[in-house]
Order: sequence, then C-alpha cells, then structure tokens
Amino acid sequence: MQDLLLVRYGEIGLKGKNQSFFLNTLMNRIKEALAPLGGGRCRRTQGRIFVEIKGDREAALDRLRKVFGIVSLSPTREVPLDLEVIKEEALAQLLLARERDGGSTFKVEARRANKAFPHNSMELNQLLGAHLLRNTTGFSVDVHEPDIRVKVEIREKAYIYSRVVPGPGGLPVGTSGRAVLLLSGGIDSPVAGWMTMKRGVTLTPVYFHSFPFTGDRAKEKVIDLCRVLAQYCGSLNLHVVHFTEIQKALNQHCPEDLGTLLMRRMMMRLAREIARQVEGKALVTGESIGQVASQTLEALHVTSAVVDLPVIRPLVGLDKEEIIKRAQEIGTYNISIRPYEDCCTIFVPRHPVTRPRLPQVEKAEEVLPVAELIAEALERTEVIKITERGREGNGFIHGH
Ligand code: ATP
Ligand code: MG
Repeated sequence: MQDLLLVRYGEIGLKGKNQSFFLNTLMNRIKEALAPLGGGRCRRTQGRIFVEIKGDREAALDRLRKVFGIVSLSPTREVPLDLEVIKEEALAQLLLARERDGGSTFKVEARRANKAFPHNSMELNQLLGAHLLRNTTGFSVDVHEPDIRVKVEIREKAYIYSRVVPGPGGLPVGTSGRAVLLLSGGIDSPVAGWMTMKRGVTLTPVYFHSFPFTGDRAKEKVIDLCRVLAQYCGSLNLHVVHFTEIQKALNQHCPEDLGTLLMRRMMMRLAREIARQVEGKALVTGESIGQVASQTLEALHVTSAVVDLPVIRPLVGLDKEEIIKRAQEIGTYNISIRPYEDCCTIFVPRHPVTRPRLPQVEKAEEVLPVAELIAEALERTEVIKITERGREGNGFIHGH
C-alpha cells in the first residue's frame, strides 16, 4: 500500500500534439516544488499524474497548491486489485472523511478503467456501498448530494480517496514563453504578474529604481515581492534598472502635467530592450482602466505607442477591491502596503493630462536625448536571482 497524491490537470489534457510537452513541464514543476521536502516521483497514466511523496503530506499539498496547471489534488492510497482490500480501504477513507469534515451521507463513485477487473463500476458502487453501510453506524446513502464521496479508480492498481483539494488551475509555467513584467512595489503589478504566470508564462521582472529618491527599502520590497512570486515559478531574475538620471531629465526638461506619461514611456522602452536581451515576447503591467490619470484609454495608447511588443494588462477588468483580494490570496498584499514610496508616488504631477494626444506627447519628448538615456540606464542594470528563500548570489551588473 502506498501513499500518493493524485493530480488532475484539466486544460492541459486538451493540448493535442503538444500534450507531452505540457505534461513534462508540469511534472518538472511538481518535482521542483517538492524538492525542499525531499522530492517526489511522478508517474503518468491516462489523464492523471500520480506523485509519490516523501515526508509530510500536508506540506506537500501546500506546495503543490502553487503549481499552475494543477486543477485539483487528492491524497490517495494505491492498493492491489483485490476486492477485500478495496472494501477495507474504502471504509477507512469514509471514516477519515467524517473525522475531517463531518457528514452523515455518502456515495461511492467507482470508475473501472481496467476492464480486466471482474466487477464493473455499477457493481462496485453497490458492493462497496453495502459494505460501508454494514460496517458503520449513522450513515445513509445519498446519490444526489452526499456529504462524502468515496472515489474508487480501478486501473492497474486500485486508487481510493475521499478528499479533493483545489489547485490553482492554469498552465504550467514554462509552456507559454517569456514576458517582461514591470514590477513596482505597489499592489497591482505583482497581481498582474501572477495572472500572467498562471497562463504558463515565464516572467522576467523589471524594477525602475530612482536611488536616492527611492531608497534601499523600496528595492528590498520588490525583492520580497519576487520571493512570493517565486513560490509559483521557482526562481526569477529581477532586473533593477538605474532610473535616476531619466527621472532627473524628465523633471528638468519636460512639462509637469505630462510627467507620469513621459516616465511611463521611458519605462516601456527600457522594458522592451530587456525583452530583447531575454527573448521576452510581451510586456506586462499592473495598469487597469480609469484607476488614475495615466490609465485612461488615451494614456494607455500613448504609453504603448513606443513599443512594438504586445503590452499585456491582465487587470483591465478588475476593480481595486478585487485586485486587493487577489493580492491577499497570493500573499503579496502585506509586502505591497509597506510605506516605502516608489518613483510614481514621489513625482506625481498636480494636474496630470488625462486625455493626452500622441503628437503633443512626442513633441514634449523631443528635448530629451532618449537613446542615450536608455543606453545609460541599461548599462547600469543590476540582475538579481531570487528564489522563495531570497536572493542568490550578489547580483551582477549588465555588461560587466
Ligand atoms: P502598482 O500597484 O503596480 O504600482 P499602480 O496602480 O500604482 O500599480 P502606477 O503606479 O501608475 O499604477 O503604475 C502603473 C504600472 O507601471 C505598474 O503597475 C507597473 O507595471 C509599472 N510601474 C510603475 N512604476 C514602476 C517601477 N518603479 N518599476 C517597475 N514598474 C513600474
Ligand atoms: Mg504604483
């Protein structure tokens, strides 16, 4: 008898010819997630993955709840194809479920994938149901809305379980290519990054640091946000761009009411260059629609106009309340609300333009040596590898 976790993966099952690629990536992600617990071996069988875990089962479940591509998980036992053993295990599962969640009605749901087994699904439901009723008190059968479902899968062995733990869904990280995430210390961009990762995208986060206007603690905050995001993807290479000179140039030479927009355009250009270096195929931001002056549709147009890559804004349809709720679930919220300011909160125009027109913005930008500013900021970009445990190594500066 062996303790296993049964993994259901839904959507990946539909990927046709690429299925192996999706499944192999998912199994690798599962192994990575379990590595701190001593690892886990994966086996594939028709439509499911079985994971042999070492060590604590609840800890393993907690870690796998953060692996995108997993629809749900069930702790299960693998037992021989022997009716008596199956009966015993089904009984054990029913009692376990009652102890855990309570309940007085049950239903047996058997599935015979292995036709060599002498009893079909219907017969098994009846045989096992009768056995469970005979050997317990206080239970009745409810086939429509039971409190407890005892599931039995007959394959090359039998698998019996009663608990279904939801996973995060989505696609395994690594199956959808790479995108560059503009990650501030705010509430929104970590959520935008999480939503993009959920669709299988590998992220390269970029933070624009205007030291000393924004201090070391603002940078530490972004590193801590990356640590939380790394729980969902293993590791991240955070790019910290030296944004100070650009910030100064904007403050000195450009009209104040266009300040935020011009800053955003510089960020986009820099992110685009980093995408070139890391083979990113899109940019991701935490912008929504209408939240602030720089997020009207006109402003978003002006911001996107400087780049040729798709700009993904996963939060467009969410209200702030919904974003906050999601940030709390992901685990980034308490870090995001630390008070250290970023450049967007320090250099806020008093009367920002809300309906900018592109020619007007391009004209205001003409005074800036854009190419030189971009090159210089990139030259001084620091790359920090971050895992859930923190930063690894000392970081390095590009081109050195
Ligand atoms: P957030 O909570 O993500 O900061 P926000 O609603 O405060 O978002 P803004 O501050 O206007 O919005 O920024 C919009 C987006 O621009 C951010 O979501 C982020 O993607 C990007 N951004 C802003 N500042 C920075 C920064 N210092 N470094 C990296 N990206 C940034
Ligand atoms: Mg912000």
